[in-house]
Amino acid sequence: MTNQKADDPRPLGEIASYHAHVYYDPATTRTDAERLRRWIGERFSVTLGRWHDAKVGPHDQAMYQVAFAKEVFAELVPWLMLNSLGLSILVHPNTTNPRRDHLDDPLWIGKPLDVHGDKLPEEAEAELPLTPNTTPTLRP
Ligand code: ZN
Repeated sequence: MTNQKADDPRPLGEIASYHAHVYYDPATTRTDAERLRRWIGERFSVTLGRWHDAKVGPHDQAMYQVAFAKEVFAELVPWLMLNSLGLSILVHPNTTNPRRDHLDDPLWIGKPLDVHGDKLPEEAEAELPLTPNTTPTLRP
């Protein structure tokens, strides 16, 4: 496919964008998830996804998705480390292999949860950054 040697590292160019999945328990931690979502929207240019109060796709708990461009990673992810409010957050790259992105290559903030990789394809179009739907007014 390429003239890369097999023992070469994967290049950063594989990453088209990122997701952060913010997990919560609808019965006990939804208000924390609401607060974190508001804080993110006030500070970062990202795409906030819909609330999923029921499990969806490979995810083992209720969650919402935060989609963001590569340029946002360096500020958003350290900020999430400081402000997770005890929630579990999965941060994963978007390449052409969603299963590997979620299972092998992500990082977790807070307690790691199960991810059902069997519900994810091993080959897909890499997700380019979505149009942000936030209008940040505060500095992180
Ligand atoms: Zn995702």
